[in-house]
Amino acid sequence: MTQEKWEQRWHPLRQEWVIIAGHRQDRPWSGETLAAEDEQLPQHVDNCYLCPGNTRVSGEVNPDFAGVHVFDNDHPCVGPLAPENLASAPGVYDNAPATGLARVICYGPEHHLRLSRLPLPRVVELLQTWQQQYAELGARDEIDHVLIFENNGDAVGVSNPHPHGQIYATNFIFKTTETEVAASEAHRQATGRGLFEDMIASEREDGRRILDEADTALSFVPYCARYAYEVFVAPKQRHASIADLSTTEIDDLAVVLRSLLARYDNLWQMSFPYVMALHNAPTDGADYSAHHFYISLHPPLRKPNLLKYLAGPELGGGNFIADTWPEAKAAELRACPTTHYVEDLSAKD
Ligand SMILES: [Zn+2]
Repeated sequence: MTQEKWEQRWHPLRQEWVIIAGHRQDRPWSGETLAAEDEQLPQHVDNCYLCPGNTRVSGEVNPDFAGVHVFDNDHPCVGPLAPENLASAPGVYDNAPATGLARVICYGPEHHLRLSRLPLPRVVELLQTWQQQYAELGARDEIDHVLIFENNGDAVGVSNPHPHGQIYATNFIFKTTETEVAASEAHRQATGRGLFEDMIASEREDGRRILDEADTALSFVPYCARYAYEVFVAPKQRHASIADLSTTEIDDLAVVLRSLLARYDNLWQMSFPYVMALHNAPTDGADYSAHHFYISLHPPLRKPNLLKYLAGPELGGGNFIADTWPEAKAAELRACPTTHYVEDLSAKD
């Protein structure tokens, strides 16, 4: 893929163009790789607010948990104690109390075991926890949207390396979800079909960007990827939220997600930073049966030491310029093994 060409690709879920300008960055990277971070981290850190038995800033003591552990965020940006007496917004502007609930999902007691290295049963437990949290928080009258996500790695500004994700349950619907559910509904009305199912069909027809496939789940670099190594992980069948997935679908999704995270870390033999987000339907009571739950992963790196910066087109214009071809990046990930390199090293000890 060294030809001088570029094109724009339509992102059907986000309803926006992505400009693919792969000719600008199409050189193989051949420098040093960064040291693997995980291997140096201890299993327990005394001043870590997520390790079992430690005291958090709130004064609460973490229980001696053995698996996935959820608690209310000590530094919530939305919460039941949100200030109510706000200064009135000037003129055309508007404001509201930032009520809701913010929670932390600790992936386990081990300070050093990132999601990419968790044993499969623990990944399944995490997915089940996501199901429970979405159902529980979404059932509350005051909650219209449950955003479940993970910021992973220094590159995306994570304050604590102890593996964890977060939940923001809010009184409004996040913008991306709003756009995606509207796009899915419009597609169903126009064609009678599921938008994400049609995307899966198009990906399978092409085949070059599909990474892993189980009976009921798959992962792929989308045709319209905005980030170099962006990947969607999804059940094949449409469900409005993760809460509606069967036991088999959760098991398959866990296998496919775990394979992807191993591929990521194996790519440069380093802990691969990413932002992961679950795309669940809103919980405001409207009909979202056209929506297809999926998980998106947005790694900020284009190369081991090179971040994708959001600049004029992204921040100024609101559309992405991708500097790489999704087909080329998918080929790199496909070439990586699905056994994590750290596990592979210890197996040879
Ligand atoms: Zn810890």
